[in-house]
Amino acid sequence: MEKDLFLEENCGIFGLYSSCSAKIAEEIYYSIFKLQHRGQRFCGMALTREDGDIKAVTHKGFVRHTFTPEDLKPSGGIYGIGHTSLKEPQPMVLISRMGKFAIAFSGNIANSVQLREELKECGHSFSTENDTELLGKIISCEKDFVSGISSLGRKIRGSYSLVILSREGIYAARDPRGFKPLILGKNGRRFAVSSESRPFDLLNLEIIRDVRPGEIVFIDNCGIRTVGECGTCKPSFCAFEWAYIASVDSVIEGIPVMEARENFGSRLALKDGDISADIVAPVPFSGIGCALGYHKESGIRYEEAFLIDRFASRSYTPLTQESREEEARIKLSVIKYSVKGKRIILCDDSIVRGTQIKFKVRELKDAGAREVHVRIACPPLIAPCFYGISIRSYDELAATKYTVNEILRRIGADTLRYNTLEDFVSAIGMPAEKLCLSCFTGKMVENHEK
Ligand code: SF4
Repeated sequence: MEKDLFLEENCGIFGLYSSCSAKIAEEIYYSIFKLQHRGQRFCGMALTREDGDIKAVTHKGFVRHTFTPEDLKPSGGIYGIGHTSLKEPQPMVLISRMGKFAIAFSGNIANSVQLREELKECGHSFSTENDTELLGKIISCEKDFVSGISSLGRKIRGSYSLVILSREGIYAARDPRGFKPLILGKNGRRFAVSSESRPFDLLNLEIIRDVRPGEIVFIDNCGIRTVGECGTCKPSFCAFEWAYIASVDSVIEGIPVMEARENFGSRLALKDGDISADIVAPVPFSGIGCALGYHKESGIRYEEAFLIDRFASRSYTPLTQESREEEARIKLSVIKYSVKGKRIILCDDSIVRGTQIKFKVRELKDAGAREVHVRIACPPLIAPCFYGISIRSYDELAATKYTVNEILRRIGADTLRYNTLEDFVSAIGMPAEKLCLSCFTGKMVENHEK
């Protein structure tokens, strides 16, 4: 949904080797366009040149609004990486004893202040406050890229999936827990790594497999191979990817996002039993799969209650809470014809502050809906995320302050039901032990705990 808008992923990363250097910039451009739902404030790419040098460009804003024809001119090289971000411009280029390289990552470094101080004590200086630079500097302290990336496993608390562009090829790695997704694809002599499988469809690449938690891979003209590890632990795949973050056309750890979302809806429908309603409707976009699943399980007709304005573009600048809410409000309009006099099951992925779902319920009722029953794919969010999602504090979460009945009263719906944690996990189809569920349980995952 156009969420309470504090709930945003930080980044999407992409890396590509192609034997055809003429198209590489363009293909990275389209790939990061396809990953932009993971972070909209900045975008960028770095490409190798024919002589092995690295050319990088970053922009503030949407991919399609900011890249110029000049940016997309062939660089002559065969490797490139791309990035979309909520936090900071990436890729960042650094010069080290390993030579010039570009780095981009997705995640959150929970102990960045401490690590930065430690490096400063050793005589390092920083030109930005970006975590990307911090990661690059930590890696540069070691003798080569593999040992540098390996050292992150011992030093970093938090999450990271990263790509590094060197003149020899692309390194990609996932933190030992594998919080952030990272997937490999190929077609003939083209090899890619991406936060999600979604760009592969556009580039006509096939999924090979997900990068394993803690695995370091290297991509060059010989293909993709494992070259090291940055630690091994029990995996903690972010469960929220399947509920909200990832695009419905992506596949994570072999589980299609759409399948999980439909399962969220069918679990809710099963719990509702023979509830009387006229239509099931989603809050677009991330409520769509859940509403479809509810409809398939219950037999209640699926109908769109909201129209998404095709010309409303999301602003990428950090707005005030009021202006962000206003933007979310104007982006969706109620289809009065579809909702008037109806008893509606309204599906959404999650409730953060509860402000947006309250608006939606009110708009439906103002348009003449007889009843609105809110159904939420996720269990209540009770803790901030320390691994990369922008849930910044407990205060932002309605479920830490109010009971379900109090939230129901505040949003003005007729009934409210969340999936239980058990149903949520079974809908994803992966054992709970392999998932990060911290924002639903409040139990933090330690990076180094086996
Ligand atoms: S705390 Fe929640 S949002 Fe953050 S990684 Fe874990 S499941 Fe994902």
